[in-house]
Amino acid sequence: MLQLITILNRCHRFPGFVYQQARFSSDHKSIEIAVRPRKGSKAVCSRCHQPAPGYDQLAERRFEFIPFWGFLVFLLYSMRRVDCRRCQAVVVEEVPWADGKRTLTKAYMLFLACWARRLSWKETAEAFRTSWDKVFDAVEHVVTWGLEHRVLGQIDAIGVDEIQYAKGHKYLTLVYQIDLGIPRLLWVGKERTIESFQGFFTAMGKDVISKIVFVCSDMWEPYLKLIRQNCSEALHILDRFHIVANMNKALDNVRAEETSRMRREGRAPVLRKSRWLLLRRSENLGADQHFRLRDLLRYNLKTVRAYLLKEAFQQLWEYNSPAWASKFLDEWCRQTMRSRIEPMKKIARSLRNHRELILNYFRAHKLLSSGVVEGLNNKAKVTMRKSYGFRTYRVLELALYHSLGKLPEPDSTHDFF
Ligand SMILES: [Zn+2]
Repeated sequence: MLQLITILNRCHRFPGFVYQQARFSSDHKSIEIAVRPRKGSKAVCSRCHQPAPGYDQLAERRFEFIPFWGFLVFLLYSMRRVDCRRCQAVVVEEVPWADGKRTLTKAYMLFLACWARRLSWKETAEAFRTSWDKVFDAVEHVVTWGLEHRVLGQIDAIGVDEIQYAKGHKYLTLVYQIDLGIPRLLWVGKERTIESFQGFFTAMGKDVISKIVFVCSDMWEPYLKLIRQNCSEALHILDRFHIVANMNKALDNVRAEETSRMRREGRAPVLRKSRWLLLRRSENLGADQHFRLRDLLRYNLKTVRAYLLKEAFQQLWEYNSPAWASKFLDEWCRQTMRSRIEPMKKIARSLRNHRELILNYFRAHKLLSSGVVEGLNNKAKVTMRKSYGFRTYRVLELALYHSLGKLPEPDSTHDFF
């Protein structure tokens, strides 16, 4: 007859320990499996990972295992303590199925963590009749292991971006590896200050950092400064997406300001509902919207002039040669500075200040599109939405590494699908 113990020995077997017996709990809702040390096998010190002579035994502990046919499953085991000569201390033993800190078995943590990548953490907890906190523990275990065991290797290109995670300007700094073929999240930092971003360079180590060839970032001054300091050999490229986003913001300010001024002056509300017409690229508009846009462009408005400047700027990205691109950029800035539209002039000034970094995009032969960073950042936003419950920094950090870090996973005795 096939017994539970036989199955366990097939999928979750550890030399040095034996499954003694399986029984129902008194309420018949869970299965309890008693585990004991194999006769003659020595306990292993959890500090130095070497066998050591026994000292005493602690009270029985329950380790939660993967549920089975609608029953919760627990391994029951009394941990031994060893008198370790190497460590010169009485230390609790190390058991291969658990990490010593948590009540979940490693196998169950790996199992839950896999599901927590596909479902939200809350859904995972509900599906397996466990708590959100235990899903958190599971992900923390797997991510910690993954970060300790990941191989950084040669990193050619990185992208830096920030993401807002709570109201009141709470930001995370995210650093991605954006080499062709291996996009992954390398590092998460709290805030977007010089101190926090410096943490990335420290964590990666000089060896990895010194070999980076391309860095892609936005115009945030602390980023620019540290990249100059740490990656002086790398080609620093200003992220195209952010330039376009800033320009859209400027245009939107012009539109909002002009709309309310026209209202105050009692003029016809021609700019009403024009926001998306103006912000979207014209080739993405439907026929109807095209018609409305053409209509709008006949007016001599600041908004219209700002829109035309924004649309004209898009041509920059068509150039291949840095020389032609720079000619175009300079000419665009010159025109814009004469436009008497303050938000657009501000953009032109900023572009002039960062001219070299913008032109680096062309010097890098346009190989690095910020689209990779943008794509990863969108995934990061989806992850944030799925994992919260408690939107603390630690939760987000774990969730982001878990879903975007491409981290290695702890070995498993069996594929518990
Ligand atoms: Zn020891």
